[in-house]
Amino acid sequence: MNAQDSSRRRFLGQAITAALAGLALDAFAGPAAAPPALPKLTQDNPQAKALSYTENAATVKNPVYKPGSVCANCNFYKGAKGQAYGPCQMFPQNSVAAKGWCAAWAKKA
Ligand code: SF4
Repeated sequence: MNAQDSSRRRFLGQAITAALAGLALDAFAGPAAAPPALPKLTQDNPQAKALSYTENAATVKNPVYKPGSVCANCNFYKGAKGQAYGPCQMFPQNSVAAKGWCAAWAKKA
């Protein structure tokens, strides 16, 4: 073994050690943090008022309401299945109730 081989072995050893240390750190980092939850849309919000938003579709008296329509089955709703609230493309600054409704409801495609 010459000096060049020894240097190459030392370099490879250090590279492998650094790679393993990086893998170990990744394992302890855990899953990525979830994005912060959006504040719930309130019925005082001017756009919510304009679209007759409610957190409970069962109480809707609006003539355009179609029985069975709720945010969870609306095309604009982007919440995860089973979650009580989720994002809505019509109200990008807020989350809306999965059981809610507004006049912009459109059947999920
Ligand atoms: Fe709910 Fe759809 Fe209205 Fe958004 S657009 S508030 S998901 S009914």
